[in-house]
Amino acid sequence: MATLLKWYKPLLPRLSLFYRKTFTSKPLHSKTNLRVRSFSAINCGSKSPPCTTSSESNLSNSLAIDGDNFGNSSREMKKELWLYNTMSRQKELFKPKIEGRVGMYVCGVTAYDLSHIGHARVYVAFDVLYRYLKYLGYEVNYVRNFTDVDDKIIARANELGEDPINLSRRYCEEFHHDMTYLNCLPPSVEPRVSDHMPQIIDMIKQIIDNGCAYTINGDVYFSVDKFPGYGRLSGRKLEDNRAGERVAVDSRKKHPADFALWKEYSSLILQSAKEGEPFWESPWGPGRPGWHIECSAMSAAYLGFSFDIHGGGMDLVFPHHENEIAQSCATCHESNVSYWVHNGFVTIDSEKMSKSLGNFFTIREVIVLYHPLALRLFLMGTHYRSPINYSELQLESASDRLFYIYQTLHDCVNTVSQYDEAGLKDSIPSGTATCINKFQDECLTSMLDDLHTPVVLAAMSEPLKTINDLLHTPKGKKQELRIESLAALGKTIRNILTILGLLPDSYSEALQQLKDYALKRAKLTEDQVMKKIEERNVARKNKEYEKSDAIRKDLAAVGIALMDSPEGTTWRPAIPLALQDPQFAAS
Ligand SMILES: [Zn+2]
Repeated sequence: MATLLKWYKPLLPRLSLFYRKTFTSKPLHSKTNLRVRSFSAINCGSKSPPCTTSSESNLSNSLAIDGDNFGNSSREMKKELWLYNTMSRQKELFKPKIEGRVGMYVCGVTAYDLSHIGHARVYVAFDVLYRYLKYLGYEVNYVRNFTDVDDKIIARANELGEDPINLSRRYCEEFHHDMTYLNCLPPSVEPRVSDHMPQIIDMIKQIIDNGCAYTINGDVYFSVDKFPGYGRLSGRKLEDNRAGERVAVDSRKKHPADFALWKEYSSLILQSAKEGEPFWESPWGPGRPGWHIECSAMSAAYLGFSFDIHGGGMDLVFPHHENEIAQSCATCHESNVSYWVHNGFVTIDSEKMSKSLGNFFTIREVIVLYHPLALRLFLMGTHYRSPINYSELQLESASDRLFYIYQTLHDCVNTVSQYDEAGLKDSIPSGTATCINKFQDECLTSMLDDLHTPVVLAAMSEPLKTINDLLHTPKGKKQELRIESLAALGKTIRNILTILGLLPDSYSEALQQLKDYALKRAKLTEDQVMKKIEERNVARKNKEYEKSDAIRKDLAAVGIALMDSPEGTTWRPAIPLALQDPQFAAS
């Protein structure tokens, strides 16, 4: 935590002083670090040199991923990362603007409610990218904002009779808890809109000065006609934005696609607001910023106008990111983001997730029944750009897989720990070395190819199977080689789990948690399961096989698998048979 604060501190702008909780009557004469250029030509998307800001000197990162070097076996393989760029619609070789350093901005949440699994997908996807860039040796300045000024926040606060700023603070904290559950590393900095009003106002002023925005009675609109590159990211043409469809009709606007940079307070009151809502003074009168301008202003404040990666969910491509590009370019003609990275949607039982359909799950609702790392594993089981279908069966499969991985590694560590590791000669048998090299190469190749996590997860099967085979090999003369192999395989998988953010603090603790979750889903206690095992033992002794089979089947139906061994019967979580086989469920 101390390291984190050390990293945050120099970045936290003095502008927090401008934080406005309530009315302010004085105009804000702020000067930001944005060095703006006159708007002569727009070359957004071209590889122009960066517009420097003082914040660029902060491009360093003291956060370190736990664990050792991630199996750098991959001998002399070139570590060239290819990322899909929404702008060019193809995979591109990743080359940061400054050697060894990466500036990454990811659009954060609007803090007015608990985050749902669509959010979980975004932030797990970018956590994987963040971790992987760090693994590749980059210093990453990862900026993820909080939208804490928004009409939705105010509407919710009115509903609850709560102060809007308090409400958003509360939900920012809830979001942090969710990120901790999902094992997402904290970003380098998490700027909030309410702390950056001076930068936002300065940027709007500059856009107006550059002739790309106009005012109407205290509102400020961006003039899309003035930005020739508008629509390049989304591939939409201006004429597609017909009034009355996606874009609200406003007869005062010069073009139906023009969007608000600043909304005047009195017009907000007419719309939905109540007195007492937060607003800020501006050269155009009191009001609040439009949604899109915050990310242009905050990315420029922390990363400069020219930086490497801008990310978010696919739903942000239009209008949010399209508008961000327009605003940033209209402020500084050298504005440039090298890679626009977007993750795919989450569907639920193959339907789009939405509140109105009632198939909407918050992260908190999911992790009541499933281990948070099982949710993370599920999200990584599909490539980040593909749509992902959330279902009970998928979550059960992820939980089952996680149990298998942790159980295997737990047994492996237990066996190895019975030997003096220092005494091991580090001479891995060639069969094991081949298995490890193959696995590491597959991981590296897949991750470098636009972060193909599903391939990495699938590739884990072979070394896990090898560990299990070795664990069940009778002890013999080659015992030492067996232990060497187990130690090397265990370490390799552990390293990959670290890159993926799937390594638990303790295998045994995680296994117990997975079992507790399974019991909860089965609506059984451990005692009840043990009683059932006892009953079954008695039935088997009495040769009442029908009865003993029925007990096993009933437990399997709800996700409790019995395992018989010479030492007795134990249980482990499994995918409920009732879910795997609909006919079984009906019977
Ligand atoms: Zn944004």
